[in-house]
Amino acid sequence: MKLNTLFEQKKIVFSFEVFPPKKTSSIQTIYDTLDALSDLNPDFISVTYGAGGNPADHSTVEIASTIKHKYHIEPLAHLTCLNSTKEHIGQVLDELRANEIENILALRGDRNPDVPPKTDYRYARDLIEELNHHGEFDIAAACYPEVHPECPDMEEDILHLKEKVDAGASHLISQLFFDNNDFYNFLYRVREAGIMVPVEAGIMPVTNRKQIERMVSLCGASLPKKFVKIMHRYGDDPAAMQDAGIAYAVEQIVDLISNGVQGIHLYTMNNPLIARRISQSVASLIRCSNRAE
Ligand code: FAD
Repeated sequence: MKLNTLFEQKKIVFSFEVFPPKKTSSIQTIYDTLDALSDLNPDFISVTYGAGGNPADHSTVEIASTIKHKYHIEPLAHLTCLNSTKEHIGQVLDELRANEIENILALRGDRNPDVPPKTDYRYARDLIEELNHHGEFDIAAACYPEVHPECPDMEEDILHLKEKVDAGASHLISQLFFDNNDFYNFLYRVREAGIMVPVEAGIMPVTNRKQIERMVSLCGASLPKKFVKIMHRYGDDPAAMQDAGIAYAVEQIVDLISNGVQGIHLYTMNNPLIARRISQSVASLIRCSNRAE
């Protein structure tokens, strides 16, 4: 199923993100994760691709295919272009077609100082245009409630976001954020700019101090005072920090749903136990919202 149909059918879409295991781990680890995630009935599961700016990640298609054919859940395959040639993208698209994968999150990809970018694609928009030309895929794109780190201001970032939607992106997934007001302000500006496609809010449960330090340095998300207090108080106690991180994510989601957000995209960090606790805490709210009207 193409995801644009899903957004037409549901008031709130609830999705997960997983990543392929690191080279040092067995592929089986992701299958154990999917086993545990699948009975939470997400609307779709996205699979990252070469995250961190590494060269192509060959297991993305394989994992997306398992999500579709073994678990009968719709997959969204991420695909980055900055470090790719047209020829390589063509090969990945052939693999996606062969595995009947219809949904692609089209990304530029992060710059990696150790890997000089190729020249076939400069921005995600270039990949979206190409995918749209093929006509057979539903295309999603990324957006940044706190502005993409390379962009000088939100106005310009939203102009480029509009270019992605005009090129064919049918839904957007946001970068993680910890202050819902950042998301609401962003959404207001997005609609004002005439971007009307569904925007899913990206939520990352932060359950240990190391993870947050890494995330903030990677994506530049700001930390509200309330969150910093939680980290100072519980950061050295893993069980307490996990409970506090889950509670914080649930509170964010409850507020977002109550304010009519069209989708929640949960960055699961391949941790099904945390995803389960969060999903169970908000399942009735999502059911209730989808029943309304
Ligand atoms: P773009 O939309 O191309 O934007 C990149 C920058 O260029 C922005 O600052 C934008 O304002 C600017 N820009 C765009 N067009 C123009 C133009 N015409 N002129 C001047 N400037 C322009 N990375 C991975 O490697 N693998 C993944 O699987 C992955 N998944 C992600 C999932 C989500 C939901 C998100 C939010 C991010 C993900 N990323 C992933 C990270 C992403 O690749 C980086 O944030 C990357 O730096 C930007 O990608 P983009 O597609 O948003 O780029």
